[in-house]
Amino acid sequence: MQRIVILGSTGSIGVQALEVIAANPGRFEVVAISAGSGNLALLHEQAERFRVKAVGTTADSFDCSVKTFTGAAASREIAAMECDVVINGITGSIGLAPTLAALDAGNLVALANKESLVAGGELVMRKGRGRIIPVDSEHSAIYQAMLAGRRDEISKLILTASGGAFRDREDLAGVTVDEALNHPTWSMGPVVTINSATLVNKGLEIIEAHYLFDIPYSQIDAVIHPQSVIHSMVEYIDGSTIAQLSPPNMKGPIAYAMSHPHRTQGATRPVDWSQAHRWDFRPIDTERFPAISLARTAGESGALATATFNAANEVAVDAYVKGVIAFTEIVPVIESVLATGDAHGEPRDLADVVAIEQTARTLAAEIVATFQRERS
Ligand code: MG
Repeated sequence: MQRIVILGSTGSIGVQALEVIAANPGRFEVVAISAGSGNLALLHEQAERFRVKAVGTTADSFDCSVKTFTGAAASREIAAMECDVVINGITGSIGLAPTLAALDAGNLVALANKESLVAGGELVMRKGRGRIIPVDSEHSAIYQAMLAGRRDEISKLILTASGGAFRDREDLAGVTVDEALNHPTWSMGPVVTINSATLVNKGLEIIEAHYLFDIPYSQIDAVIHPQSVIHSMVEYIDGSTIAQLSPPNMKGPIAYAMSHPHRTQGATRPVDWSQAHRWDFRPIDTERFPAISLARTAGESGALATATFNAANEVAVDAYVKGVIAFTEIVPVIESVLATGDAHGEPRDLADVVAIEQTARTLAAEIVATFQRERS
């Protein structure tokens, strides 16, 4: 029986993890769950249904028959509970502190919260090397493909990108929020979906891959693959490329991370080879999607810069969703913040990350206001 802790249990990853667990009776035990204050009714229902030992929420109060943690530190308390694996399905850099708490407690982390690595960088990897199993579909694919050879035989990691909602759209200036929230192949939370449309998500994933697998940015590529069946690839020095594929469904990588090093029966539907398939690949148009090069540049400067990239993006996406800036202004906001902030190097501790993010958010808010003034 794998003892599982789920952070962000009411979000997209958390809900699907619980579905995998429910579909495999006797294989997993849910020790504890935590979530924000957005859907306390669902959190309560999950706690009862899975008979957890403890539950945590950022809400100030929560009425439940089991041990309850509330407030800002709740997810850290839950992350440190004794278990076999902690699934971190929190969205945003607020997921970093619980990742560190889980690692400090000696727990294995199934990481869906890419911001932990983007904002924490070496701070996380110093504690987490060999103890983080990726849940992001691309990184799960690379992790699996890396089992085919030695690390020093890898020549390149190739991340696939669906290309987001606008991969085939030339003019991105007037894109509405509803259009950006409509992802062609993946069903995800709103922030991740916008990040997917700007390709900021792929930028974050390149950074995530760099830290997770300790591979230089010059050896990490990304390619558009609209069908999202081949989740990523590893190219070896002999010219051979190993890919991992399955129809797009997050339950595959979630189940792999939860049951690692074993596999879960029927976690996801396999490719149907009785049907004809066509899988396309094309290079990313980096002019139309400047987020990729910007993420690389930030990456070369270290995690204080990538934390800045991420925090500025969070502010810009929020401003876009509220109708304050245009879709095509999201990445320029990040670019201006990076140029003004001049962050570089790795954070020494969580306080360094919190401070650099605060600076980035303040700068981003100022730049958003400038964009707004220029228009009016
Ligand atoms: Mg991904």
